[in-house]
Amino acid sequence: MDTQEAYQELGLDPSATDAQLKASWRRLVATWHPDRNAAADAGRRMQSINKAYQHIRQLRDGSLDGDAEDPEAGAAPPEAAQAPEPDAHAKTHVRKVRLSLEDAILGCTRTLRGHFTHTCTACLGKGQRVLAKACSTCRGSGAVRTAALFGWLWNEEACADCGGDGRQRERCGPCEGSGERAVAYRRQVRFPAGVRAGHVLSVPSSRHGDLDIGLELQVEIEPHPLFVLDDEGVLRCDMPVNGYAWMAGRWVDVPTPGGLQQMRLNRDALVYRMSGQGFPTAPRGPRGDYIIKVVPVFPAQDDAAQDALLEQLIESSTRATAADRSQPVGQWQQRMKRWNNSQKEPARDE
Ligand SMILES: [Zn+2]
Ligand SMILES: [Zn+2]
Repeated sequence: MDTQEAYQELGLDPSATDAQLKASWRRLVATWHPDRNAAADAGRRMQSINKAYQHIRQLRDGSLDGDAEDPEAGAAPPEAAQAPEPDAHAKTHVRKVRLSLEDAILGCTRTLRGHFTHTCTACLGKGQRVLAKACSTCRGSGAVRTAALFGWLWNEEACADCGGDGRQRERCGPCEGSGERAVAYRRQVRFPAGVRAGHVLSVPSSRHGDLDIGLELQVEIEPHPLFVLDDEGVLRCDMPVNGYAWMAGRWVDVPTPGGLQQMRLNRDALVYRMSGQGFPTAPRGPRGDYIIKVVPVFPAQDDAAQDALLEQLIESSTRATAADRSQPVGQWQQRMKRWNNSQKEPARDE
């Protein structure tokens, strides 16, 4: 891991102070510690976060930090070493939430249901409990004898049922022997207007069964059939329109995040701006502009009826535009004619 990657891993840039470095590391470890995070890659992320932190500390201190904050020694979430916080025992469930673009623009409330799997607290993940009474298989001796060599000798082996300690085991009831328990949760979560893909929202922990579960929500935005949010956060729409309707300045329906709206086409414009109807400039911030680009589309050219109509149109408009010398076409025609005539004049001797 190089230095740049290390800072990236911790979400910092090299100008971060030591305090910011430590705070970021603590926050990430609290999020990604496999005891608190059910994600499949939590262990790998945790290793990578610790590596990055260690790398930067080494750079800054010139040596390895050997005290209790050494990340290699910090196998437990940092909070465990701190004065107990109100939610020190809360679990954080990291999960993805997919929102439609409209929901992201306008804000929304979602009911999230899920399961948080955690180590069974009754058996500490072992799946069984040790009882006070003696193991019924070995009668408490911890060893079983098996006959060998036709009963002439005996082998003594550790008792498989108690692992050799001679105490009776019982399958753990709460987790049915699996060592893990799943707690169902259901939370209503408000997503602010302007939330974007890649944003992470933290939801404070609340009680579910015998656990305090907080949520860390990674936002994804569904692709939209009509709108695109560009890299600058500008909402855009490319809309094909009938080329003749565009030329004629007709009204058309355009989609906006709030629903269909009427917009008047203008043959001098391909790009239209609706201010305040786009994506919020920041979460909970004012709405930006919405940009509509129209793409005039004309029908196929081999339509005889259409050709005849176009012919009429060109003829009548040529009369109007070419004859009027105050108009660009009229001026152009006049200039072109003069130039053409000058080309025909015989060469003169200078
Ligand atoms: Zn259990
Ligand atoms: Zn036994």
